[in-house]
Amino acid sequence: MSKPKPADIKSLKDWRFEIDFEGIAWAVFDRAGETMNTLGRRPTEELAAIVEAVEAAAKSGETRGLVLISAKPSNFIAGADIREFDNLATVGEVEEAVRATIGLLNRIERLPIPVVAAIHGFCLGGGLELALACHYRIATRDDATRVGFPEVRLGIFPGLNGTVRSIRSAGALDAMQAMLTGRMLRPGAARGMGLIDQLVKDHLSLRWAARKAVLQKRKSKGAPWWKRAMSASPVRGLLAGKMRQQTAAKVREEHYPAPFRLIDLFDANGGDLDLMASTETDYFAPLMVGDTARNLRRVFRLSEMLKDEAPKVGFTPRRAHVIGAGTMGGDIAATCVLSGFEVSLQDLSIEQIEPALKRAKKLFRKRLKKPLAVETAMARLIPDVDGAHVSRADVVIEAVVEKLEIKRKIFIELEPKLKKGAVLATNTSSLNIEDIAEPLKDPGRLIGLHFFNPVDKLPLVEVVQGRRTREEEVGKGNAFVTAIKKFPLVVKSGPGFLVNRVLAPYMMEAMRRYQAGEPREKIDEAALKFGMPMGPLELSDVVGLDICQHVAEIIGLAPPEGSTLERMVASGKLGKKSGEGFYRWENGKPQREKTEYRQDELERLGRELVKPLLDECEKCLQEGVVASADHVDAGVIFGTGFAPFRGGPLHYLESIRNGERSTAEAA
Ligand code: NAD
Repeated sequence: MSKPKPADIKSLKDWRFEIDFEGIAWAVFDRAGETMNTLGRRPTEELAAIVEAVEAAAKSGETRGLVLISAKPSNFIAGADIREFDNLATVGEVEEAVRATIGLLNRIERLPIPVVAAIHGFCLGGGLELALACHYRIATRDDATRVGFPEVRLGIFPGLNGTVRSIRSAGALDAMQAMLTGRMLRPGAARGMGLIDQLVKDHLSLRWAARKAVLQKRKSKGAPWWKRAMSASPVRGLLAGKMRQQTAAKVREEHYPAPFRLIDLFDANGGDLDLMASTETDYFAPLMVGDTARNLRRVFRLSEMLKDEAPKVGFTPRRAHVIGAGTMGGDIAATCVLSGFEVSLQDLSIEQIEPALKRAKKLFRKRLKKPLAVETAMARLIPDVDGAHVSRADVVIEAVVEKLEIKRKIFIELEPKLKKGAVLATNTSSLNIEDIAEPLKDPGRLIGLHFFNPVDKLPLVEVVQGRRTREEEVGKGNAFVTAIKKFPLVVKSGPGFLVNRVLAPYMMEAMRRYQAGEPREKIDEAALKFGMPMGPLELSDVVGLDICQHVAEIIGLAPPEGSTLERMVASGKLGKKSGEGFYRWENGKPQREKTEYRQDELERLGRELVKPLLDECEKCLQEGVVASADHVDAGVIFGTGFAPFRGGPLHYLESIRNGERSTAEAA
């Protein structure tokens, strides 16, 4: 997003532009050198040149309509170019850039000829704002098509008057929900809401439908009267109140201000949509340069960094074999199937595999919705008690009980059956890769693929490199993890790898404080106030206190004899799974006592609780457990959910130290 000044229409690099024999102008977006179309500086300048040319051609009668379409196979426009956001350092710079692009979109909207957006694939953020400035929107029903405003995930909201245009198209209730949740809508839902005017079967029908829409001068009808009525007082005030309540139930305003500022904008000025349009930037610009948005952009860059670690060529896995159909193996298999893999799942008997198949079906139903898609996915998940499919697999993952001898035996039997070049991996969380690999003929082949529980929710997989593991195998591991749409983090073999190693001291500190008399609710509330996704004591109950104790032992942090943790485990209080741990659990929910605590006390306690985690992160960096400070931050954010708006533990530490330094200098 930056100020668009027209480029030279004769030397476009990111767009193609032509007026065909019927007088229809085609602006085809095909950003050079990129797989995704994003609205960066150059494409926006080129779009300005196209608009200028179309204005002239419309005036001279040379063109009768304009179609915006993409040449990319899977996206229309995925949004603004996030990489350029940090070029705008001040509120003033943001205002200038945003207002210029709003001006360009207004010119498109004011063109005297029909303007049609023909959408296939992602139409998100700034891309949707551009589409909404067109007079008519057609999208393919294809599964690749997604329409939405994911801006809140980057700490902002639509800033190119998309707030107002989406309300005009879909009404305040639906449009605000879409912007506040950042949800990516399937084509049917977007059509139902009014963000899209027409659906066509597939990509091939799109150009033809767009041509017809131009010739028939189709125009979006906009939201019906009853939807428009929601912007009027007093309904708007009530709606805003409800939205504030719902948003506050999910995120804290102090951490994530963007959705709250959007509600403020709507509440204050939504009764007059022109006023809302002209004041949008006043609410938007400060968010864009605020700490939350900067740190969330950092999190986005970190995710891109991890994805880039997979080699681009040489290994494209399609088939996986998973041994052990328990909690982890079953869910790893299902996750692979969801990414298009064919997976064979092995355990001691079919009875051990069945629960995993049931869980997989439930997950597929939730994710894929259509019965045919669920059945097709189930057909790709093959129970395989005898391991008959091992030799076909590109990736073999062992996820059986955590016993060295059993794992070794499995790998010895596996080794001669493997396909050449297949990845060989263990999901161990506490055993040494080197010890498991020792009896292998080729011990350099074994890697760790350490998934986190629940597998379908947590985006990180630690790719563990043992002392003898070959680089090439690690690269293939990264490629596999990326292929199942997770983020690979290469970690050196060692107790707890990265994530469990830094989590353990934090959880132990929480338990120590609990034992010293601090109320459990206060401890957990303090962590939430800091920005953790769940309090450490609730997390311990969810993970299982026996597992916590085991991890603590591996890392050398086992609490002293007679500790609360030890006593609870000994008496069978294992947390959520046994119905009692630090909390009593009813219907899957911890029973808490409602007490109010002073905010300053919670803040102090929150900082103290995470201190051991931060210290351990620094140690991991010094010891080279991962490649860099950015890798520590990425691993801890994606592996533990560490307060994303703080930009990662080491980044947070650095910003505190910088703050202290500037305070000291000022004094
Ligand atoms: P689990 O007890 O739920 O499942 C283990 C499965 O392995 C069982 O179904 C068992 O029947 C099967 N099995 C045992 N011996 C076998 C053999 N010889 N051949 C085939 N199958 C065999 O255990 P889990 O929690 O899924 O853990 C599995 C692995 O994942 C362990 O190495 C564990 O350390 C690791 N891990 C667990 C978690 C977690 O939160 N549970 C997280 C990360 C890693």
